[in-house]
Amino acid sequence: MESSSSSNSMIWFRKGLRIHDNPALELAQKGSKHLFPVFVLDPYYIDPDSFASSPGSSRAGINRIQFLLESLVDLDCGLRRLESRLLVLKGEPVQVIARLLKDWNIGKLCFEFDTEPYAQTRDNKVKDIASASGIEVFSPVSHTLFDPAEVIRKNGGKAPLTYQSFVAIAGKPSAPLLSIYSKLPPIGDIAGYKILGVPSIHDLGYKDVKQEFSPFRGGETEALKRLKENLVNKKWVAEFEKPKGDPSEFIKPATTVLSPYLKCVHDAYKTVKKHTQPPVSLAGQLLWRDFFYTVAFGTPNFDRMHGNKICKQIPWRDDEKLFVAWRDAQTGYPWIDAIMIQLKKWGWMHHLARHSVACFLTRGDLFIHWEKGRDVFERLLIDSDWAINSGNWLWLSCSSFFYQYHRIYSPISFGKKYDPTGKFIRHFLPVLKDMPKEYIYEPWTAPLSIQSQANCIIGKDYPKPASKECKRQIGAAYALNLSGEAPDAEEKLNSLRRKLEEDDQDALQNMRQKKRMHK
Ligand code: FAD
Ligand code: MG
Repeated sequence: MESSSSSNSMIWFRKGLRIHDNPALELAQKGSKHLFPVFVLDPYYIDPDSFASSPGSSRAGINRIQFLLESLVDLDCGLRRLESRLLVLKGEPVQVIARLLKDWNIGKLCFEFDTEPYAQTRDNKVKDIASASGIEVFSPVSHTLFDPAEVIRKNGGKAPLTYQSFVAIAGKPSAPLLSIYSKLPPIGDIAGYKILGVPSIHDLGYKDVKQEFSPFRGGETEALKRLKENLVNKKWVAEFEKPKGDPSEFIKPATTVLSPYLKCVHDAYKTVKKHTQPPVSLAGQLLWRDFFYTVAFGTPNFDRMHGNKICKQIPWRDDEKLFVAWRDAQTGYPWIDAIMIQLKKWGWMHHLARHSVACFLTRGDLFIHWEKGRDVFERLLIDSDWAINSGNWLWLSCSSFFYQYHRIYSPISFGKKYDPTGKFIRHFLPVLKDMPKEYIYEPWTAPLSIQSQANCIIGKDYPKPASKECKRQIGAAYALNLSGEAPDAEEKLNSLRRKLEEDDQDALQNMRQKKRMHK
């Protein structure tokens, strides 16, 4: 028993859905008689939720699920070329893996290290179960260029909180693995398990999905192709300067659209030599990714305001109506709504488009909690990423990393600067396709005759604009200087919220009084 078990190994795929440059796979196949490549579909992420705000599960929109399935099909194809295949199972992952380890007599378990809290809990349980049965466990870092734990250790036990300090501490990433396999060890006896191929979206219970799927296809093959196409243009790579891209460019996006694939692929770095410098260079973008991973890993409650010591405590407003208007592309600001439609349809938007809608929801206009916006992004983005998404929402809401709350992206002039005729808006909001360019960013200012000519009456065919005044609230919150770890933070925040609301009421009453006096 003992000797045979030590020659069976399992590679448990989760995020790194790739064959090349995959240290967990390398370790798993080495010296093994049998190799079981496994992916477990987690109901937490993939079970349909009929109450969700758009098709998908409660955690993932349909585009994310479809992207995952495409990535799995591609992984399965890659494994088949190496005379293996992907064994796809469904169920609570800890229970499924524990059962398989036993039933398949596994002696060595390998999986990529994952820093996300949900994954940490899951993986620690699996590690304990495996170790208790004497199974060797390897969990190498390969999702990021650097090991977040190592960077934190080098920085004296704390996560570096600025990009510059992160870059200085991190140093140079290690070289990718270049092993090329001609064949993997065969799969052993699967002991009566009935294993089907990668399911389709319909197999998962999504019966009538009529929606337009993202134009970006999932998988390692597609990712490497995109990487090659981008890197072939050496001049473009060398001159890539992030803040200069055009967020309204959607036929050929201004950036690489690599983010969705970084779950599968990660080696752009070594190919880029002479280039613009971080933080704006392409290599610099990848360092942003590692920066947020490191801070997220080293900060308890990173994905929340309460209990998060690097997060400003701000009395965000609870306004479900405004939030839903934002989520459902009904704010009445075409630039904002068009971006939200792109998110829903494509699961991807340009970085500066994400800036626009995140600023608008939080400190810019609606004063709604960044966590609510973050959850919408998390569910709908095909590049959805726990650390990067929360990190950027913290940034955009002026809750952490960036504090110049007076600098706001105008929902009108920012987009107009890139796209004066509004082609982006016309594409994603066809209801406005005939609105003259003079009014496309502010259709409520168009005379009624123009609105009827354009077949779009504001307030009927397209909503009137919704917004709130925010700078005053953020200023008051900053002045309070509350720590997320303070035991009375919630109470103090509530009292500030009440005070701000009372001020609003007073202001409203004053205005009414003045109006009456004028009559
Ligand atoms: P490129 O500009 O071509 O950059 C190449 C790679 O660098 C990206 O794929 C990404 O891995 C990394 N990168 C670029 N910008 C950032 C950044 N600001 N922070 C961290 N890494 C970066 N990116 C995600 O991958 N997942 C998310 O869930 C996510 N949520 C975001 C939420 C908000 C509110 C904002 C403002 C940004 C978010 N981003 C997220 C970061 C960024 O917008 C995307 O990574 C980028 O737009 C993806 O397109 P690209 O691959 O063409 O980027
Ligand atoms: Mg890009």
